[in-house]
Amino acid sequence: MQALYAKAMGGDRPLDNIEIGERPEPQLQAGQVLVRMRAATVNHHDYWTLRGVVGYPITLPRILGCDGAGIVEAYGSDPPANAPKPGSEVVLYPLTFCGNCLGCVGADPMLCRTFTMLSDGPLEGSFARHVVLPALHVVPKPQQLSWSEAADLGVTYLTAYRMLFVKAALHPGDTVLVHAAAGGVGSAATQLAAAAGITVFASSRSEEKLKVAERLGATHLVPAGRDAAKTILRLTGGDGVDAVIETVGEATWGTSVRAVRQGGAIVVAGATSGPNPPADLARVFWRQLRILGSTMGSLPEFLELLHFMQDKKLKPLIDSEYALADGRAAFEKLANGDHAGKIALTIP
Ligand SMILES: [Zn+2]
Repeated sequence: MQALYAKAMGGDRPLDNIEIGERPEPQLQAGQVLVRMRAATVNHHDYWTLRGVVGYPITLPRILGCDGAGIVEAYGSDPPANAPKPGSEVVLYPLTFCGNCLGCVGADPMLCRTFTMLSDGPLEGSFARHVVLPALHVVPKPQQLSWSEAADLGVTYLTAYRMLFVKAALHPGDTVLVHAAAGGVGSAATQLAAAAGITVFASSRSEEKLKVAERLGATHLVPAGRDAAKTILRLTGGDGVDAVIETVGEATWGTSVRAVRQGGAIVVAGATSGPNPPADLARVFWRQLRILGSTMGSLPEFLELLHFMQDKKLKPLIDSEYALADGRAAFEKLANGDHAGKIALTIP
């Protein structure tokens, strides 16, 4: 089958590690579902893999892609009760869990010690004609969404949902600062928060991207940079925001610790500009800040997200679509960072 895969990792030119060509069909096992892929989006996770930054030892070549939407083709054994029938349009819940660690049997399966995403665990990724995953991990596709829009839910939207509503536990009337507010997680967080009645302070280096965030529901537009925190404090009467959605890291951390209110939460789910900013610990303890790591989300949270999207009639922001065969150009666009929303690969 046709697939986009990493033939190598690391080096000075990570995009040169991309190969598009034939890979063997995945072998469907008992307890799994086989999905005919229609679209997937390009995530920073894929780019980190090409750079050789991986949480698990993976064998090469490795098909990339960690979200997606497609059509159920078959189950490897009797499908679970109420599972989407073969022929159903579905969205992938792209995580796998060990199923028997303390995290898995406790209240939050995201604390599984060895959970993995498609492409970085035992399962190959979604930039391919077919993918297999646990039989319970396909969910009916919201009808109002295109294939690319639906594909975007499994990683980006789920990440933003957990950051806002589980980790920061925000409620209507609260305030949130979203960095890189037209980026992947940023645009999702802006849209979800605004739809939930949370006041969004959107930050970006680009005027154009601030306009995008405004269309997604942000009411306060803050140019990123030295004066960003000062601007937010002025706009909040000196208090700061209830929470910060932090995925940028080194370039924005200084703003995050200054612009959050006393006792507020900084939720971290990425560090696209680098993972080691000065911690500014004096500010952290004196102002009693809560710094909360977050990654992806549980299956129940994914189902909540889908209901929320349907209820509020939301559509993810897709910057552009590329055919799988042109996947390298999609990665170049991601690396350049001049996109708004997500870059999708369509699988004909
Ligand atoms: Zn586990």
